[in-house]
Amino acid sequence: MGYNKPETLKKYRETHKEQIKEYVETHREEYRRYQANYRKKHLGKIREIMREWRERNPEKIKAEQFVNNNHLPLAEFCELCPQDDLRKATEHHHPDYDYREIFVSVCVKCHKYIGMMKNE
Ligand SMILES: [Zn+2]
Repeated sequence: MGYNKPETLKKYRETHKEQIKEYVETHREEYRRYQANYRKKHLGKIREIMREWRERNPEKIKAEQFVNNNHLPLAEFCELCPQDDLRKATEHHHPDYDYREIFVSVCVKCHKYIGMMKNE
């Protein structure tokens, strides 16, 4: 395979769906290893970023610790997804960090979405 123009690539993807799927499946382990290596290599930097984030968001950390320490259970399904019982709730979302006991059970996707809206 030489140089691929985007439209050629798109066509290739459409006509080789099965092969691509198979490639991804067989290389999954490799990819995971690559990611793990990457993390290991950049651990210092990642830790630094995490530390900065924690310093900038102490109220988020406290809210998180509060739900963990008190074992406040999540609802089974995300309460914000457009459909009921669509995705499993995996995280607590605090609408107001001053009220740590008030939270909404959300899935990762909705949580990210809320975060994005707040930053605007
Ligand atoms: Zn959701």
